Amino acid sequence: MMSMSAHDAGTSARARNEDRALVEVAVSLPVAGMFHYRVPARLDGRAGVGARVLVPFGARQVSGVIVRAPAELVAPGKVLEVADIVGDDPLPPDLVALCVWIAEYYEAPIGEALRAAVPAGTQVTAADVVAPTETGVAAAAGEGAALPPKQRDLLAQIVHAGRLPRAKIARARHADLDALAKRGLVTIGLARSAARIKPQTERVARLAVPVDEALARLARAPKRMAIVQALADGPRAIAELAAQIPGASAAVRELANAGAIVVEKRELVPEAAATPDLPAASTPPVLTAQQRAALDAITAAASRAPIGTDADQATRGGFAAFLVHGVTGSGKTEVYLHAIAHALARGKSAIVLVPEISLTPQLAARFRARFGDQVAVLHSGMSDRERLDEWLRLRRGHARIALGARSAIFAPVADLGVIVVDEEHDGSFKQDEGVRYHGRDVALVRAQKAGAICVLGSATPSLESYANAREGRYTLLEMPDRATPKPLPAVEILDLRKFMPDGDAMLSAPLAAAIAETLEHGDQAILFLNRRGFATFVVCRACGHAFRCPHCSVSLTYHQHADRLLCHYCGYGQRVPEVCAGCNTRGAIERKGLGTERVAEALAERFPRARVARLDRDVASGAKAEAILARVARREVDLLVGTQMVTKGHDFPGVTLVGVLCADTGLSLPDFRASERTFQLLTQVAGRAGRGDRAGRVIVQTYKPEASAVTFAARHDYAGFFEVETEERRDLGYPPHGRVVALRIDGPDPGAVAKTAERLAQLAGVIAKGAPVDVRGPAPAPLARLRGRTRWQIWLRSPDRAALRRVVRGVGTAEVASGVRVGVDVDPSSTL
Ligand code: ADP
Ligand code: ZN
Repeated sequence: MMSMSAHDAGTSARARNEDRALVEVAVSLPVAGMFHYRVPARLDGRAGVGARVLVPFGARQVSGVIVRAPAELVAPGKVLEVADIVGDDPLPPDLVALCVWIAEYYEAPIGEALRAAVPAGTQVTAADVVAPTETGVAAAAGEGAALPPKQRDLLAQIVHAGRLPRAKIARARHADLDALAKRGLVTIGLARSAARIKPQTERVARLAVPVDEALARLARAPKRMAIVQALADGPRAIAELAAQIPGASAAVRELANAGAIVVEKRELVPEAAATPDLPAASTPPVLTAQQRAALDAITAAASRAPIGTDADQATRGGFAAFLVHGVTGSGKTEVYLHAIAHALARGKSAIVLVPEISLTPQLAARFRARFGDQVAVLHSGMSDRERLDEWLRLRRGHARIALGARSAIFAPVADLGVIVVDEEHDGSFKQDEGVRYHGRDVALVRAQKAGAICVLGSATPSLESYANAREGRYTLLEMPDRATPKPLPAVEILDLRKFMPDGDAMLSAPLAAAIAETLEHGDQAILFLNRRGFATFVVCRACGHAFRCPHCSVSLTYHQHADRLLCHYCGYGQRVPEVCAGCNTRGAIERKGLGTERVAEALAERFPRARVARLDRDVASGAKAEAILARVARREVDLLVGTQMVTKGHDFPGVTLVGVLCADTGLSLPDFRASERTFQLLTQVAGRAGRGDRAGRVIVQTYKPEASAVTFAARHDYAGFFEVETEERRDLGYPPHGRVVALRIDGPDPGAVAKTAERLAQLAGVIAKGAPVDVRGPAPAPLARLRGRTRWQIWLRSPDRAALRRVVRGVGTAEVASGVRVGVDVDPSSTL
């Protein structure tokens, strides 16, 4: 990591105290490296690792976090002083260490990584603010010497506003601004903006002297005597006293002035967010043999971990990783709950990561029912205030289980015992902008640093995790049977080439018949269509042939504008042929537009008495999605049509039929993980059927009944799929065989972006020469233009992480045209 002194970052401070302690600060700006500052005497003792500071940087002050203390100066030079320490809550040092690791591994600025760990809205910043002087106000009113018109206008604007951030004044007018300052008409000074949210406090009174003495001082003053008596058992909130004793506030002031009591600020302990419909405390079910075996393995490892401070643990070991591979409904959640209870019993804490989509009140309720207020929930639907409250409950140790989506991995818990990552294969754990970290991988590192247990769980583990388990890095715990006596549903594959669906609705005759039958029984059905993104689906109607890149083994994407099929990895392109290369049929190649909306319409027409609901990102997110799912649970919906959102974790006993309308849409995505994702989705959605008393039935419609993602999912054969798919990726060096880094280049000017991409790819090629690093591209991204920016990609692949890193860092030093951004995506999950 780069390190430099901030000697040229400002002029206000003199480095008087050469001998004072030095610290290294990561500033919350997108700059690489850390900066040295000196700690002034008044801040002594508070400037430890994790302390949040304000430091001079250029003409302003910026917030930052102390990352190293004490630090050593490497380059001579003037060193500025830390301006202030803000907030009473330093970040826990192990979280700071985690962020340092993240910055290093994901090639991201450390300040950005730390930003993920600091609760939103609590940052303090400082910026230049312009205010008029008295003379300035008078001048604006027309007194004194006349000003040039431009300066007069600007002064009027400043007087009108009273105070104005300098940044709000157009750059072109800064010369006028300086002129006004020179004339003494305005001042420009650093002003601090307070944190948007702070911990809530209350005022508390306590006795400063013994009760008898306090009472003795009060001759016949009943209110004051009442207060002293009320404080005899300990401090009380003033608001509380005022509610009990009329006129208490004045009496408190008098007592404080007389030195009988002391009034202090005390932080209010936030209360746990309310959970609607909190079920009565649940008694755990008797574990099945498979659950028991998995749990025993986990707790045995956890018991070997020493009890003590985090630092001790890390040095003494204690880390162990498990992959729970349990079919849908095998009762993995129950295993997590027990593992967490075990950690709590040893005085430790826990973090549970779940995909954002499954973070419904039901899941939180399940945890609350078991652990009560010990659970703190963190998710993106909360306000900053609510998040800070939960953060503080964790930081203070009032809550010891953090439950949340990806960013909950930064929960400020001490004495970490276990981290659970549920549905570890889920794509939502990877952050796709800013610091592109993967929540699961960071979880493993955090557990390792804390000497804690990490439990990954899934019915369909990522190939990477399963490979790690196979190779012994994680202990593999298999749970092949459902916890309840309901068997996994039978899956029928329906060849769409034989059973032509009717139009865009994608309903083949057998599926329509199955839906009708389900409705007759008064049961429910889920219909799933993986119609994701923008890609139009191009397929040969006669043979199901889809088009693949000859170099990259990914599907080509149809670009409507150009009427061409393009490879989004290497840029290879071809026309859409007249004659299918698979079966030689002429004129059978179709560009299909599928969509859940069309399907929902068609279902309503076909089954007029059925209550149809649709669930996808277009109609529902967050609370709305919950409302729809709640209606399904109450059986107010007969047919639910949707995208991936219908495949996750739901447990609806009334659902006996799951229909997959077209398994191939996902297979045609330009992504080396397309097959894996399809397998996961099919397995997960199939797992929604037959959870109640009636057996479930799953119908998968497909143009590619022989695709391994389809056949293995139909047989519930994860291991078989793993073998085939891993082998498939071997030659091309995709994970789990090799590592991938994507360079994402974007900017408003298409020409500049393309040129930069070409140059970087060339440079990468030069650096990679002789090293085992494969440079692919540049090529336009599948989403070639997004929010006014043109996007290109370069893909780097290698079995050797160090070699890969050298190329990435080498390319990182290249100069880039202004306006063009180069993002490094380590272990990318999105190819879009
Ligand atoms: P998974 O997370 O593996 O999909 P869940 O933990 O959600 O599975 O469990 C599926 C269903 O089985 C839930 O309704 C749960 O209450 C039930 N269940 C879990 N463990 C047991 C058990 N030991 N005995 C009876 N029912 C169980
Ligand atoms: Zn290609």
